[in-house]
Amino acid sequence: MNGHIASVGEVTTREQYGHGIQVIDEDQNFNGHLAKYLALEDVAPAGFNYHLISVFGSQSTGKSTLLNQLFGTHFGVMSEQERRQTTKGIWLSKNKSQNAGQKIMADNILVMDVEGTDGRERGEDQDFERKSALFALATSEVLIVNIWEHQVGLYQGANMGLLKVVFEVNLELFLKDQKSSPRSLLFFVIRDHLGATPLSNLKNTLIADLTKIWSGLNKPSGLENSKIGDYFDFAFAALPHKILQPERFVEEVAKLGTRFREPVGDSDGSVFLPKYHRRIPADGFSVYAEGVWEQIVNNKDLDLPTQQELLAQFRCDEITREVMVGFDEAITPFENKQADGIRLGAPEILGGLGAAMRTTRMRTLKNFEGDASRYHKGVYTRKRAELESKMDVRLKALFTGQLSAAHKLGINAFSESVSAAVKAGQKKGANYDFGEIVAEVKKAQLSKFEKEAKSILLEGASWSVFNQELKLFRKELDEVTGRLRRDEMRRLATRSERWVQSRLGESVGLEFNALGSGRGGSGAPAEGDQPAEKEIWDRIWKTFLKTVAEAENRFTIRAKSFDASANEVEVGLWRLRRKSWVVLKAKIEEEMMEGNLLLKLRENFEDKFRYDEAGVPRIWRPTDDIEGLYTKARESTLTLIPLLSRFQLHDTSSPPALDEWIGHMPSGATPADEEDLIPIGGVDEEEGKSLEEETTMISDSKRQDLTGRFKKTADGVYVEAKRSAIGGVTQ
Ligand code: GDP
Ligand code: MG
Repeated sequence: MNGHIASVGEVTTREQYGHGIQVIDEDQNFNGHLAKYLALEDVAPAGFNYHLISVFGSQSTGKSTLLNQLFGTHFGVMSEQERRQTTKGIWLSKNKSQNAGQKIMADNILVMDVEGTDGRERGEDQDFERKSALFALATSEVLIVNIWEHQVGLYQGANMGLLKVVFEVNLELFLKDQKSSPRSLLFFVIRDHLGATPLSNLKNTLIADLTKIWSGLNKPSGLENSKIGDYFDFAFAALPHKILQPERFVEEVAKLGTRFREPVGDSDGSVFLPKYHRRIPADGFSVYAEGVWEQIVNNKDLDLPTQQELLAQFRCDEITREVMVGFDEAITPFENKQADGIRLGAPEILGGLGAAMRTTRMRTLKNFEGDASRYHKGVYTRKRAELESKMDVRLKALFTGQLSAAHKLGINAFSESVSAAVKAGQKKGANYDFGEIVAEVKKAQLSKFEKEAKSILLEGASWSVFNQELKLFRKELDEVTGRLRRDEMRRLATRSERWVQSRLGESVGLEFNALGSGRGGSGAPAEGDQPAEKEIWDRIWKTFLKTVAEAENRFTIRAKSFDASANEVEVGLWRLRRKSWVVLKAKIEEEMMEGNLLLKLRENFEDKFRYDEAGVPRIWRPTDDIEGLYTKARESTLTLIPLLSRFQLHDTSSPPALDEWIGHMPSGATPADEEDLIPIGGVDEEEGKSLEEETTMISDSKRQDLTGRFKKTADGVYVEAKRSAIGGVTQ
């Protein structure tokens, strides 16, 4: 039967491979569709669970017929009439026998039908014989040698030439790969066995011939003393004449078929002993075969270990690409989302990232291992590590991206939460504990960060530690805390200033009001030379010091409660003192406003003039020394003007040591701490204003003006008193 024969480049479906696949065509081209064929036949995923058999022998000795009978294949056979070569190159087919898959035969047997090359059709093509022998030895566990019974013992025959070639190329291969070169089984199938000569005799003859060939070989140095049994095992079978004894032929072939089963022991007659297996994983077979064939065709030294390494590299890369598809599917969405977050400046914590990273990494590695671990150990180990680092580069980026998002969000949440809590505290009253708020919020954010980080840890990944990141997060929390604390210090300072302001407003106001009573605010009866009035500045200064000291004390306690540093406290107190002085001065200035002061002076004068020592209002009589009392009261009140003009202590007749009290600017103060400060004369020397000037409350010109106006007012009061005295007489 010479039906359609599938060949290079034109096949896609299983049906089209009815005759198997022509792995090597007559022009010695390798068929790139082999991988597809193995996939269609379901052999590719079999790992090592497949077998390869090649058949050798002279042309037209019934090889293809035998294979078809044994394995249910449809290799082309010569028709009885034509006697013309049919098998060209090398064909391969999967076992199609009914017995396949029923334990009678092993799984996934691949059979290679090799073009016979005794030269009848191809002339002196010894070249292909050598190449196909090399190819078969590099791939096959079993080499079936098909031989007519009548050829046995014909030492010079074509078969013996072929075997010589097989032995030679085997030695060649062995030289390159002394360690792992597996043994091969030479399975002699003697055809047209008449039965006259028992198989055992035929076997002995063959072994004798083989040994003879072997000893006649030109062995490479080092292998001179090697024996044929060092490399080959032998098996023998005989089959009856197919045409003369067709039924017996079928029977015997069926029996022979049972030897192609999975071995149970070492010598149960099965031909598939593990030691023959080439250990090329099925999914790499086509690549391996192609590489081998390429070396052979180009007459390069065929070095199987190198081929296996190349295969391993190729396949491991291929498998890496395959498993990375699944990795990408799972990981790319996270990467995109993270990139979006960064691009939009809104970093996001990606939910489920940790689980996805862990399972994807594990699954990807497992998928890789499943297929790749069958290949060359060294290459596999290296490629596995490469795959790991390939994944880890991306996982690490996700890891750090996630941590950086957690970091940014954590910092924001921290300052927001603290601010919110402070605001809530302020609403409830000033008595919130800033230090406690910070500690609580910080703790919550730290544990959130840690939890987030731990959820994306990958066991065994060298980069997968977050101590460094945690440290950075903690550090920035501290920095933000510092900033928030400075804000809080400002708030505290403002509160303290206000408190000082309201306290001073009251006490200084009282002092000035007291002036109006003419008793100097002491409650003592007014007298010409009132010590109480003279010490008004002493009292104000004392009250001021006391008030500020109290404020300082409160400030210090509060500031320390939220861990303000000694330095920060020092700066805060310095600022508080300066601001308090400014507050005091403003209050005094308010009291000293012209109208206010004139009123006070008039009240003071009237108090002294119109009331007697007991505080009883005077009813003027013409006999009264109105003028004397007037002069006395006026002079007494007039002394207030110079007194009030300068903030001076009574004892020293000089201003209080404001500069000493405020103190030098603390070394820890920043420009920002000075920004809103009003210069104080005698304290800030560079301002060019002296302490005298700072403490001058009424300027000389104003003093004169005030004196003049007061005198006029006093005169008016005097005139009025005079009039009332006269009026009293006429009454
Ligand atoms: P191949 O070239 O070795 O593959 O041989 P084929 O299988 O194509 O068969 C060549 C010829 O031998 C065909 O005409 C077959 O019918 C014939 N043939 C096949 N098997 C046997 C056999 O067992 N005995 C004999 N005598 N002829 C056979
Ligand atoms: Mg054939």
